[in-house]
Amino acid sequence: MLDKRQFYIDGAWTAPKAASDLEVIDPSTEEPYAVIALGGQADTDAAVAAARAALNGWMYADPRERRAVVERILAAYEARADEMAETISREMGAPIDLARNAQAAAGIGHLKGYLAAFDHIEFEAPLGDHAPEDRIIKEAVGVCGLITPWNWPMNQVTLKTVPALLAGCTMVLKPSEVAPLSSMLYAEILHEAGVPKGVFNLVNGDGAGVGTQLSVHPEVDMVSHTGSGRAGIAISKNAADTLKRVHLELGGKGANIIFPDADDDAVRRGAAHCFSNTGQSCNAPTRMLVSREIYDDAVEIARRTAEATQVGPPSEPGKHIGPLVNAAQFDKVQDLIQTGIDEGARLVAGGVGRPEGVNRGYYVRPTVFADVSNDMTIAREEIFGPVLSVIPFDTEAEAIRIANDTPYGLTNYVQSGDDARRQRLARRLRSGMVEMNGKSRGRGAPFGGMKQSGNGREGGVWGIEDFLEVKAVSGWGRD
Ligand code: NAD
Repeated sequence: MLDKRQFYIDGAWTAPKAASDLEVIDPSTEEPYAVIALGGQADTDAAVAAARAALNGWMYADPRERRAVVERILAAYEARADEMAETISREMGAPIDLARNAQAAAGIGHLKGYLAAFDHIEFEAPLGDHAPEDRIIKEAVGVCGLITPWNWPMNQVTLKTVPALLAGCTMVLKPSEVAPLSSMLYAEILHEAGVPKGVFNLVNGDGAGVGTQLSVHPEVDMVSHTGSGRAGIAISKNAADTLKRVHLELGGKGANIIFPDADDDAVRRGAAHCFSNTGQSCNAPTRMLVSREIYDDAVEIARRTAEATQVGPPSEPGKHIGPLVNAAQFDKVQDLIQTGIDEGARLVAGGVGRPEGVNRGYYVRPTVFADVSNDMTIAREEIFGPVLSVIPFDTEAEAIRIANDTPYGLTNYVQSGDDARRQRLARRLRSGMVEMNGKSRGRGAPFGGMKQSGNGREGGVWGIEDFLEVKAVSGWGRD
């Protein structure tokens, strides 16, 4: 059993002030393999105090110094990328190739992307020719509490910590207690890269403990959270008394609208995307809206795609999907599949239970429901498993209405060969992102949602600006 009970506070690994152990479970075996500590108020206070003490030195440093530190983090991260992939794969069950090529690689992508975006941030700039003595200064928000989930652990941790570092903020990271080990490795990487002590701190804990303590803390200026709406609401309420800035990246129920003039691979690609990472992605295209003209063919392709999706151990190379992260997710996905059946959706692939021949690990069957109506539970709730709902539509207007008829607004998808139609839809879909014809968003594009999918943007200049205050100065004089 790995002993990982220390926290990283003020540049050193420190023991928790009071013992409160939590086992980390391998989702492929259901066996514990590491133990962490859940922090308490004294640990949170120590980490926040360290971040507060380090703030002036970091926020008023020359921005180029901060850039140089992040460049060193990139080098240190690249050197340990394989170890990072193995750590993520074990803690949350992503198959090793996915862990290497997407999960761990996302950290490298975000480090590079933010370094490029940083060069476009003007920390001090004139307001304009009409006001020559005015300056606009951008400066760090201050001490940040960063609260992250388990499904893309390093993606989320780098999306928050890197812009916070570049902006001049100091921080306390509370990673998911379900998948904390990749963040502990990340803390080692930051230490190796020479991040000054107190600038980055890590305290493990759960939502009721450290998560809440950071949200209410008077010495925390901003909380940035990625996770469930339930936690986002609690954090917003808990942060209200101190009026701190709250940045939320929450769930999604993405529509993937497929028209008859879509490319031949559109349905297979959409179903495979839904199953990827075992369906545990906030931007997964889980509602496939298909024109009735091609509906029967689409259902058949989706069925074949589900049946061709292999389920297997995270440690094995290949394009299969791994287990769900834990028992709670397993039970939730099983319940929702049963609810789909009970509410009258047509099960065309998968279903409840583990895949054939498997009796251990949180493995589930890639599942497709057809004839789903948008008011069924499986069309409304985020399932966070490999479960696709296929919904027919007759007209473009109906497709837009169904797509927008959800509390979420993270990513919607459109498949059509008609440029004018795609552009009409891109304007009308109420989501922070619209991805069309299988083209992924370019580096530096902002990630984030509307409605109950959240209120911030991560990545690119927007991601850095979320950690900056804007200050207007007059009477500046001559430079
Ligand atoms: P979760 O909200 O339960 O946990 C996320 C983090 O919040 C964890 O660190 C947890 O300890 C903490 N937390 C929980 N309750 C809290 C509270 N009351 N106060 C403070 N912190 C609290 O979510 P999860 O199960 O880890 O992750 C899955 C969810 O994350 C899904 O809903 C998914 O869609 C969402 N997600 C969103 C994005 C995005 O960018 N929009 C990305 C990935 C995941």
